[in-house]
Amino acid sequence: MLGLMQDWPLTVDRILDHAAHRHGTREIVSRSVEGPVVRTTYAELHGRAKQVSHGLRELGIARGDRVATLAWNSARHMEVWYGIMGIGAVCHTLNPRLHPDQLCWIIQNAGDQVILADIGFAPMLLAALATRETPVERLILLSDEAHRPPQAGPDVLMYEDWLAGRPATDAAGAPAWGRFGEETACGLCYTSGTTGDPKGVLYSHRSNFLHTFLILQADIMGLSAADVILPIVPMFHANAWGVAFAAPAVGAKMVMPGSRLDGASVHELLETEGVTFSAAVPTVWQGLLQHLDATGGKLTTLKRVVIGGSACPEVLLRRFWDDYGVEVRHAWGMTETSPVGTMGAPDARAAALPFAEQLPWRMKQGRPPLGIELKLVDDGGAEVAEDGVSVGRLMVRGPTVARGYFARDGEVLDADGFFDTGDIASIDPHGVMQITDRAKDVIKSGGEWISSIEIENIATSHPGVAMAAVVGVAHPKWDERPLLLVQLKPGATADGKAMQDHLSGRIAKWWMPDDVVFLDEIPLGATGKVDKKALRAKFAERYAATELSAAG
Ligand code: ADP
Repeated sequence: MLGLMQDWPLTVDRILDHAAHRHGTREIVSRSVEGPVVRTTYAELHGRAKQVSHGLRELGIARGDRVATLAWNSARHMEVWYGIMGIGAVCHTLNPRLHPDQLCWIIQNAGDQVILADIGFAPMLLAALATRETPVERLILLSDEAHRPPQAGPDVLMYEDWLAGRPATDAAGAPAWGRFGEETACGLCYTSGTTGDPKGVLYSHRSNFLHTFLILQADIMGLSAADVILPIVPMFHANAWGVAFAAPAVGAKMVMPGSRLDGASVHELLETEGVTFSAAVPTVWQGLLQHLDATGGKLTTLKRVVIGGSACPEVLLRRFWDDYGVEVRHAWGMTETSPVGTMGAPDARAAALPFAEQLPWRMKQGRPPLGIELKLVDDGGAEVAEDGVSVGRLMVRGPTVARGYFARDGEVLDADGFFDTGDIASIDPHGVMQITDRAKDVIKSGGEWISSIEIENIATSHPGVAMAAVVGVAHPKWDERPLLLVQLKPGATADGKAMQDHLSGRIAKWWMPDDVVFLDEIPLGATGKVDKKALRAKFAERYAATELSAAG
């Protein structure tokens, strides 16, 4: 027997319809690529998204066609998104931090017919497209004729001029949205390739809609209509971690930072726009705290930040709370999980403790919300105990988790339908998960595992350290030994001995990095995470000449 409830497909166009209808005057503020801060509302954004749909239809875009964006977070980027998704085309978010060769590979793999790009990317993109075979038929630059870059020939469309005069409502002739099944493909996002060739994760309307509900849970992001949200995490990173859907879903004000993600620019937006909630990778927050240290700046409206994408150093959790009264929630997820998988909101037991005693708990990556199932398995696929000590491969299952990759054959799930995250983790008896490493970053020394994340965490708590990375380097006796790479804060001094003294007593003796190298800048990959692949390659020979008796 079937239930007698309405058939109302979970398609994301309804999110913007709702925002425009019920929160039409709520603002979206953007730092524009042209320079000034510009303001619009959900009602205006809705009309312009309709115009985008009209323009795309005219270019021949139909359901299932891929339309790419290459843009920073802005209201324009939002309207383009909804304009693409509303007509059942697939919005493919390209990551501008990728090398042009990799970008073109992805464009080819995705079969993108149209690209809408910020003007700042035009020189790179035009040069890349001119010399390589791609399916791209049209390039539209997200500005007006007055800002046409010199490299853009007449066949390149300028967005504002292309939109002008198009119908902004269905009554005036804009294409109707929705009217397709909720399983229809909606968005395409490639993992950055830190683990091999980029792989396309193909979100459906349903998965994005459910993920919106999922992250709105109070113990996840808990967003509300009263919030002012600054998504620093780019829309090309798994839908700005879902915020690009969740903010309009609740009618929160959005503050879009454009390309300027440095501490000073972020601080200015936080304060001038009254931001209450933000989300970004740890490196962005480290930049903000350094700026506040240097200027004595305050955070007068910010209440909560979500930090994820890589492990959140303890110092961020502590300093945000102690110095600024801001709660950090540590999140884990991946492109394949839409992306939120777990969140470190305290349960009753942890919330009852003084903040300092909550820290070990909050350092973990947290609990899964309703809709995410986790399990740990060993190399043979047998389940590992959830005792908070035993570690295994983290497996995940749920309606917001990928079951395959775009244009790539092959089963990626185990017999029970779980996806292998490639992360190594423990889960404690309270259901709190902790990542110890990515499988490929794990350091194996003398047959035992060393957690790079844990050493990095302690190293970054040293007052002079801006960023730290630990990689495994081949060693003649121990297979691999840890090498600590440190980027100091401007003006700070520390030597290898000082770093080792700082670690001493806080990690097992045999975890101690044999060597410490100071770098002007620790290289970051396209998703703002430390590029450990590059570091491993650069320092591959570091311990090659080590005396066999030296380490141990
Ligand atoms: P890639 O880095 O390959 O582009 P993603 O951006 O999807 O892929 O990153 C997902 C990975 O990032 C996870 O599998 C995990 O290794 C890492 N990660 C994400 N959040 C955290 C966290 N809070 N702590 C530690 N690692 C994390």
